[in-house]
Amino acid sequence: MRTIAIVSGKGGVGKTTIAVNLCASLSKVFNKNSILIDANLNKADASLQLGFTDYSLALNDAIKGSCNIFESMYTLPTGMKFIPSSLRDEKINIKNLKGKIRKLNADYVIIDSASGMGKEAMFAMNAADEILIVTTPDIPAVKDALRVITLAKNLRKNIIGIALNKVTGEKYELSVKEIEMMCDVQVIQIIPEDVKINESIAKEMPVILYNPNCDISFEMKKLAAKISGETFVQPKLSFFQRVFKIDLFLTLL
Ligand code: ADP
Ligand code: MG
Repeated sequence: MRTIAIVSGKGGVGKTTIAVNLCASLSKVFNKNSILIDANLNKADASLQLGFTDYSLALNDAIKGSCNIFESMYTLPTGMKFIPSSLRDEKINIKNLKGKIRKLNADYVIIDSASGMGKEAMFAMNAADEILIVTTPDIPAVKDALRVITLAKNLRKNIIGIALNKVTGEKYELSVKEIEMMCDVQVIQIIPEDVKINESIAKEMPVILYNPNCDISFEMKKLAAKISGETFVQPKLSFFQRVFKIDLFLTLL
């Protein structure tokens, strides 16, 4: 079982979006038995992206010991399993997250963590064997990513790489080379900034299911393929899809 924490120094860089789509891709595209854990206690961000509203039993309860971890796990229509956090405002000691996760049985456990270096983020990182760093291509985010990378190295975690999110290609953005030099970690996937993410979140679905054949869905699936060692072959665009893209290009000229 591989346990991977999705972490960042700065908030809002796309951890939850990537965790949700990575887990959905592993389940739906690559048929891996995968569990998504929302370790953002009391925020339930992953639930919001998945349209999941059953908070009767959540990770909070499993950590408190009022249910076992299997009772807090749900199976979603994608086939992926999901352990939500609850929206209840309660103080919980997440220290024993690692022990609870060790009881699970799956190919992949993906942990969506809190941002930064607080207790919640630390224990999420500690509960995983592998770490995927998420950052956007700007100095504040990369500077904070570097702090988390240092922490992950001190915890002797295996850093899979950086998923570079919300890339627009504007000149002012840091380049992949600059980010790799600053962090001494490889960028394994570039994910563009794309309004389809906002549309899919509004529809409460992972973008890989809401719009499986758009560019950002391809990039999300490529990330899952790289992590799992599987092959993802990008489908060829149909005649109509190509015509539409050419039309769009001409309109932009
Ligand atoms: P985090 O979990 O790191 O706080 P989220 O995944 O919640 O970040 O994303 C923060 C916001 O950024 C959300 O509103 C989401 O819609 C948006 N977002 C994330 N990734 C992208 C992307 N590639 N393109 C456009 N918007 C994105
Ligand atoms: Mg989040």
